[in-house]
Parts: sequence; structure tokens; C-alpha cells
Amino acid sequence: MTTKLFLTDKTLETEVSVLECIPSEDGTFSVTLDRTPFYPQGGGQPCDTGFIGKSEVIKVFENENGKICHIAKQEVPLGKAIAKVNVERRKLNTCLHSASHVISALIEGMGDWDVTKGSSFPGQARLEFKRKREEVEIPSIDQITEMLKDVVAQNLSFKENIDPETGFRIVTWGDLKAYPCGGTHVSSTAELADVVITKAHLKKGQPHVNFAKVLPKLRTFTTLPKPSK
Ligand SMILES: [Zn+2]
Repeated sequence: MTTKLFLTDKTLETEVSVLECIPSEDGTFSVTLDRTPFYPQGGGQPCDTGFIGKSEVIKVFENENGKICHIAKQEVPLGKAIAKVNVERRKLNTCLHSASHVISALIEGMGDWDVTKGSSFPGQARLEFKRKREEVEIPSIDQITEMLKDVVAQNLSFKENIDPETGFRIVTWGDLKAYPCGGTHVSSTAELADVVITKAHLKKGQPHVNFAKVLPKLRTFTTLPKPSK
């Protein structure tokens, strides 16, 4: 089993040991490490990409034996190497994944909805809910946006616990509803300030909520620069 550094450590660049590097028919290599900062795809969150040594990592997944396979474009020599995760991609994935928890907790907290499915893939981030009562109206984009803004303003801290019965890691922010999860998470809800609700609609009779992270705003000048003399 590969040690999952991403569960306990936010370090995205660290020394690892390359234990295996197996060539595949498509010309890529499946690399196994003793420990990894790379998040493998799962739980609706895309995998990390980056580098192991000089070789580019394009895909990471966990196999049925708990081994994390890093798919690399070039062969990686066995022994010590620096594993380096793509920071911007991880940040975006962490933000959207955390937003999926928070939006689920807010809508479930309204009392009439159960979350059934979710994805935090950029461009396709969405949550699906099931109504507990037929007559209930789907919350509007404005309603969900207001709730989200409120939680962002409260700057709630990330919390995690291990469920003593199941051994699963349970995560939340402040007093929001907690969910079992092995993904990567923002330290505070303030980091979700750029998340927007893009759609709240019914699909096959069940509510779907779509969301996205907006790009940083273009800097605007409130005063004109003074003319140089
Ligand atoms: Zn999570």
C-alpha cells in the first residue's frame, strides 16, 4: 500500500522512493512510490498531475489492492526522486471538491433534500438531490448563492475526525453537516469566495445544482494614474 501523504499533509513537492516502473503497451509507464503527494482520481474529484523526477505524470489512480498507480510519460529510474504536484490544478480541484461538500450540506440542511450524487470536475461540477416530499420547490440560484455567501463570510475552519465505528475520515467546516471523504479540502470556507452557482433545475424530476469557480477578476483602476511631468 502506498502512503497517502495528501490526507494529512498539504506539501505538494517532496522526496519519495520509486519502487516500480512498468512499461505499458501505449508507451506510458506505471510508477509505484512508497508514499505519494498525488491525489488519485476518486470521490468525484479529478486526480492530480505533475512530475516524478523529470517524467510527467498524466494520470493517477488507486487500484483494487490499494496501490496508487502514477501514469508517467517517460521512464522513471528506481530509487529516490522528487514528486511534484501541479499546484494550480490541485487548488482548483480542492476548491470545487470542497464546494460540493458545502453546497450539499447547505441544501440538505434545508430539510427536504438528500444528496444522491456529485462531481467536482471543472466545467461539469454538479450535485444531484432527491426530494423527500413531492410538493417542495427546488431552491433558486439566488437562495443557494445567499447561503453560500453567508458560509464564506463566516470563514469556517476545516475539521476532520475518524469515525470510531467505520474508521472512515469524516470532514466538515464549522458546524455544517459532515461527510465521510478521502479527498482534498480547503482550510476555511473563505477560500470558496470565487465559487458561483450556475444552474438549479429539475432533471428527470430530480433537482440538479451546477457550480463553478470564476476566474480571478481583472484588476480595475478606481483612479487614473497621475500624468508624468
Ligand atoms: Zn471531500
